[in-house]
Formats: sequence, C-alpha cells, structure tokens
Amino acid sequence: MLTRVPDYFERFSCLAGACPHSCCIGWEVVIDPATAARYRALPGALGEQLRAALRTDEDGDDCFPLRGGRCPFLDGEDLCEIHRTLGEDATSATCRTHPRFTEEYGPFREISLAASCPAAAALLLGERAPLTFRETETPGEPEPGDPWLEPLLAVRERMFGLLSDRTRPLRRRLGDWLALALEAQELLDGDRAEDLPALAKAWVPAEADGPGDGPGLFPEVLDLLGELEVLEPDWRDLLAAGKTAPPAPQDAALLERTAAYFLFRYGLKAVNDGDLLSRIGFCVLAVLTAERLAPVCGLPEAVGRFSREIEHDAANLTTLQDRFWEDGRLALGRFRSELDR
Ligand code: SF4
Repeated sequence: MLTRVPDYFERFSCLAGACPHSCCIGWEVVIDPATAARYRALPGALGEQLRAALRTDEDGDDCFPLRGGRCPFLDGEDLCEIHRTLGEDATSATCRTHPRFTEEYGPFREISLAASCPAAAALLLGERAPLTFRETETPGEPEPGDPWLEPLLAVRERMFGLLSDRTRPLRRRLGDWLALALEAQELLDGDRAEDLPALAKAWVPAEADGPGDGPGLFPEVLDLLGELEVLEPDWRDLLAAGKTAPPAPQDAALLERTAAYFLFRYGLKAVNDGDLLSRIGFCVLAVLTAERLAPVCGLPEAVGRFSREIEHDAANLTTLQDRFWEDGRLALGRFRSELDR
C-alpha cells in the first residue's frame, strides 16, 4: 500500500509535558472499545481509577470526562499517567495516533500531522522551502479507488504546481485555485469527471483583470467563524481582535506552506460527494484567516487555533461546507475581491 506523507512527517516528536497546547487539555477523548475493555479488566489501583473515570458520552462511546478542563490522567507535570505507568500501547487509539490524520483512499493512504499540535505546526512553519510529500510502501492491501479519485488527483497535482510558482503573488495563486476548482466543479456537476485530467493539464492562469472593488471576506467571515461551535472561549476573543487589528504582511513562503497543508488534507475529499469547490474555498479561507489573525497572535498560533477549532470539529467542517453554498459572506465574489487586494 502506498502511503503519502508531508516531507517533515518523520521528524515529528511529541513535546509531552513541555507542550503549550496539550491535546490532553480541552478535548474529551473517546476511548476505543478494545482499550476500554483492557481498562475494565486491569487489576490494581490504576485499574480502579480507570474504571472510576470511565463514562459513556451522548453518542454511546466510552470516554474520560475532563476534570477542570484536563484529562483526569494528566498529572501535575502534564504527563500522561497511563502512558507513564503502562506504556503508550495502553493509551486509547486516539491518544496513540494524534496528531495524525489518516485518509484511506483505496489505492493509497495519506497521513498528515494536524497543525493544531504545536510540534506539528513548528515543523510546517519552521522552514520556507516549498512543502513536498514523500511516498513509501507500507503494510496494507490496496483497494480499488472511487472512479473520481484519479481525476481529482490530477486537479490537485495541478493546484500544487500552481502554488509552487513563486514568481506570482500568493494571492494570485490562491485565486487560480478557485478559478480551476470552479471549472472542475462544472465538469463534476455535468458527470464529466473523466475530463478533469485534460482540464488540469491544459489549465493556465488568466491575466489579472485589475483590483476587485466589491466587499472582501473580512471582517464578516470572522463573525461567521465565531458563530460555529467553539472549543475554547478565547477563540472568539481572537476572532474579535482579528477584526480590528491592522493587517500586517506575513511571510508568503509560510502562507504557501499553510496552503499546501490544507490542500493535501482536503483537496481529495470531493471523492466522497463531488463537492470540490467548497473544499478549495475552505483551504483558501483557512490561509486568509490565519494571515488575518497572525498580527494578533503570530502565524503558527493562528494556524494552530484555526486547526484546533475548525479542523477537529466535524460539525464545524460540515457547517462551513454548507455555508459556502448558502451564506453570502462566503460568496465566490467576496473571495475574488479579497484575493485581488
Ligand atoms: S499537542 Fe502535539 S506536542 Fe502537544 S501533547 Fe499533543 S501530540 Fe504532544
């Protein structure tokens, strides 16, 4: 089975007790059935503590409710008591795999490192070279992919190519993504996915047609983000501060790497529902929002907070996808005006 990962993947190492945004704080972790069964059978004092802490959430899953906003097994040094006493294998599947997002596409899988994790964000934004991806053979039997997979892969490859052209301003390159996605969406909607590779191959950016004069995305889109589910209340404070903070130029190479991170993660998701344009809109929105919030908190924090609040909340992702088609604050014209500034 071919596995594709970002080029910094192997360098990831958890910060553990030194982590400024520990994934063991603020999130209630679901305990997978095998791990819950192990905890229920574990003898000794820790077994009793584990059983006393286990609860069933509203979805019927086992979990450890937070205590004071923290996992009850996080000790005074912000280290996991289960990991320290029983080893990593005894932690839940979520704890063992975080911050890895794995997408199984059939013929291949792709694994990214969530930018909500400070160690992963530091790797993503710790260098200015274009982000690349490595492919390796890993255990697992490939399966047939969805018929849309290869055509969408061709479009995503073209988008990575457009993104890597540093002779053009980043905003123009993001505008190219939306223009190409719009044409690709028309083919998908017309049941012509087989024409996507030819479109991707032949597609070239249009000449700039002057600055847009309509309203852009900001500040209204920050209100929209504040209307979604919130993990940490100070996210809304950050969004509010981003509305009034004077824009400050950010390193385009780092914004480009941020764009590549989101494209890798979401560019093929249309394989499930044929909705490419809103996915690409989401990637552009993520980059522009991080850029807008960066003067308040710094780019790595802005990317990390967006990831934590939006990427890790399936309901927020679904709501944003729906809003892209329904909410005037996310109209394509607003994206165009914003990118033309
Ligand atoms: S957020 Fe990342 S660095 Fe921090 S504790 Fe979790 S995995 Fe480790």
